[in-house]
Amino acid sequence: MQTKQTAYRDTVPDRIANTASVTIPSMQRQSLARSLFKNTRVALNIQSSKMTTTIGPNGQSKPSALTFERHAKCSLARAHSPLPHGSVPLPIFMPVATQASLKGLTYDQLRDTGCMLCLNNTYHLGLKPGQEVLDSVGGAHKLQGWDRNLLTDSGGFQMVSLLKLATVTEEGVRFLSPHDGEPMLLTPEHSIGLQNSIGSDIIMQLDDVIATTSPDHARIKEAMERSVRWLDRCIDAHKYPERQNLFCIIQGGLDLELRKQCCEEMVVRDTPGIAIGGLSGGEDKQEFCKVVDTCTGLLPENKPRYVMGVGYPEDIVVAVALGADMFDCVWPTRTARFGQAILTSGTINLRHKSFEADFSPIEEGCTCTCCLPADKGGLGLTKAYMHHVTAKETVGAHLLTMHNVHFMLTLMGRVRQAILEDRYPAFIREFFSKIYQGDKSKYPEWAVGALKGVGMDLLED
Ligand SMILES: [Zn+2]
Repeated sequence: MQTKQTAYRDTVPDRIANTASVTIPSMQRQSLARSLFKNTRVALNIQSSKMTTTIGPNGQSKPSALTFERHAKCSLARAHSPLPHGSVPLPIFMPVATQASLKGLTYDQLRDTGCMLCLNNTYHLGLKPGQEVLDSVGGAHKLQGWDRNLLTDSGGFQMVSLLKLATVTEEGVRFLSPHDGEPMLLTPEHSIGLQNSIGSDIIMQLDDVIATTSPDHARIKEAMERSVRWLDRCIDAHKYPERQNLFCIIQGGLDLELRKQCCEEMVVRDTPGIAIGGLSGGEDKQEFCKVVDTCTGLLPENKPRYVMGVGYPEDIVVAVALGADMFDCVWPTRTARFGQAILTSGTINLRHKSFEADFSPIEEGCTCTCCLPADKGGLGLTKAYMHHVTAKETVGAHLLTMHNVHFMLTLMGRVRQAILEDRYPAFIREFFSKIYQGDKSKYPEWAVGALKGVGMDLLED
């Protein structure tokens, strides 16, 4: 995954965004691409608002339920505005609760980690419990007892993972239900209808997703163009734009020209937020960074940018520098079920015999319930205990999930704090130094190159 990379953009650091602004910034595109130094803490205020609009397929305006506030130093309090499902600070990592349940955590425990926004999956909830149950219970917040924000994937990503069962036409995606083998059709209208029934605060358009590693350029182009057409159908079908925020999804594989065309088309539709889709499909990280950088360079400053399916700490830290704001991935929770703990110094597998008699906490200084000493209100668990339970006891997976989710959300809190204090480059240097024990020769070249492209030398002392 880690490949060589040269600088692909030569920009001068631009500090313009670090000035305080509490209203939506001008749509005017800055002449320089958004760089590392332009990132600053912002909050997604998900609420009833007509401050931004979505342009429908016939040119009609639709209201939006999201405001985007850029936070500079001294305006921290704005990140805590009282809102229906809570203000969301950016950049953010969103844990994935695919089936309206975060595997390994109760919602109380998830709330305790400070999580303000997590994911549900439309495709899975549409199959079970199904739209009728969702409508009768009054949506997914009520179904799962989660009073904070929800984002739902459209189901498009499942096309990649279930492609053997699915066929894509202009109408939608036909597939066989994994529950009963019945043929099903997911159209943009159906996806939005389901997400309207789910009631998620952020909903995603149905997009035509092709693996970035696909060699079929014509199909990638078709998928990009179809995703734009499907966005129009989604905008048209969306019943509650005043309370649910529809995000478009930029497609185009690894072809930067296609990505640019897609950005231009979708920016015109003026959706409340914008996602960069189709990545994290096994492409090399240099290509990944080029796509993110190309897209963020073309997207308006006043919209959250969500890079879908990204979850390794290094990828997130670099993507934030490239101008991305939102991330999600099953990795931190899935890997916990295999005994992997995410630490500041990298990832360790607690099933390894070397931890059998290691009586130190999972991570020294971690404030999660597992690591926090008993005299400070935590469980004070040791690596030795975790080693003992991870292999065979379900509680091991639960505890480690708690630590890993806490780690990711704490990492994002530190990222935000560093941006707020205008010291993100120093944060990134410290972050990489800890992972590679200060050995710069081990730093991944893709990261060094991507950061160089936004005016930061990772190898500098
Ligand atoms: Zn911990």
